[in-house]
Amino acid sequence: MGQGLSCRASHENGFFTAVQLGELDMVEIMLERDPFLLDQTTVYDRLSALHIAAANGRFEVLSLILDRSVNPDILNRHKQTPLMLAAMHGKIYCVQKLIQAGANILMFDSLHGKTCLHHAAYYGHSDCLQAILSAAQSSPVANSWGFVRFVNVRDGNGATPLHLAARQRRPDCVHMLLDNGALACASTGGYGFSGSTPLHLAARSGSLDCIRELLAWGADRLHQDTSGRIPYVVAVKYKHATCAALLNPSSTEPLVWPSPLKFISELNPEAKTLLENALMEANREREKSILKGAHFSLPSPSHSDVAIDDDISEVSETELCCICFDQVCTIEVQDCGHQMCAHCTLALCCHNKPNPNTTSQSAPLCPFCRSIIVQLVVAEHKTEKELDKETDPSKLKKSFKKSRNFSEGSSSFKSLSALGSFGKIGGRGSERIAADLIDKP
Ligand SMILES: [Zn+2]
Ligand SMILES: [Zn+2]
Repeated sequence: MGQGLSCRASHENGFFTAVQLGELDMVEIMLERDPFLLDQTTVYDRLSALHIAAANGRFEVLSLILDRSVNPDILNRHKQTPLMLAAMHGKIYCVQKLIQAGANILMFDSLHGKTCLHHAAYYGHSDCLQAILSAAQSSPVANSWGFVRFVNVRDGNGATPLHLAARQRRPDCVHMLLDNGALACASTGGYGFSGSTPLHLAARSGSLDCIRELLAWGADRLHQDTSGRIPYVVAVKYKHATCAALLNPSSTEPLVWPSPLKFISELNPEAKTLLENALMEANREREKSILKGAHFSLPSPSHSDVAIDDDISEVSETELCCICFDQVCTIEVQDCGHQMCAHCTLALCCHNKPNPNTTSQSAPLCPFCRSIIVQLVVAEHKTEKELDKETDPSKLKKSFKKSRNFSEGSSSFKSLSALGSFGKIGGRGSERIAADLIDKP
């Protein structure tokens, strides 16, 4: 009998090895002979073939197994689903396939009560994170739990996926989570130091990029953990001097993404990218002045001069922003059709952001004609060559004419000017530089 068992065990091991190595033909032959192999698990971790295929990114084997109507949410020793393992190991195709096959995204493992979203955030697999978030928007989870509640789901230690991403220095995941409604100021229960916010955890790990993202999405520098420490104190304790300089409450406030504004929440992806880059660039300028004062220096992109030269030749005078006279109009206000640069648009929105403490929720108006901003879209961008091809001269002067409509007494113009050098920063080609900076890990 003992011999029979060990024979069976080696048969199963051979099968699991074939699954792990992605030997599709071998897996198929073995399953023909013994379909019950799909019900077997490894001895200690109780991993099924589906777990092994998912963790190793064996998409074809995974598909083959799922086609044989195996439960996609089969559990291992730690109550982890194949989807959790795929998210943990960054196997995006397996994540997508499992979700397609109906895998449940709202399951908690028994190790730390984590969901697949926690695992994707912890290990920094932003593609997997995105796939799970997309699934959450369309799956029953959105109806039963609510999408924002899912984004802020807590593990057994009270940590949200955002806490884990900030602690593990995953700025891409931090950005994606914030963009999907993760709460920047949520406090943990037992994870890290009790009462820590994502900003405390980013300060502890010394991730400048995570700190930038969190501050730009409204994380509070004065929030205290249960021991009364603000993120600045944590950064100092762990000797992250640059992070500490930005977290120092006495340094200038960063600009915060004006998410309460309706037309900001409804931006199309292109316009959103332009404005987000403008925000990060503005904060980058703020950082430079803070760090200069603190005797720090930040490396500047070496190609910035080249980028500026390149763009000047392409820019027509008619496209210059009529507020700062420095940057190109990239954003168009609808319905009136007035145009301005991304920096001035952002300044307008951040400056007139509705104040939660006051009852009047006045959204900004178009600075040129004072009409209500229904929507912001990307302005049509024409090079001189394209403009030369334009036959209608009235069309060519369109944006210039608009600048004439804009009266000198406009209060919005004054308030924008009061923001000082905001419109002056960067210069042309700055979006490109800002994008570079954001991309850096
Ligand atoms: Zn401007
Ligand atoms: Zn207007």
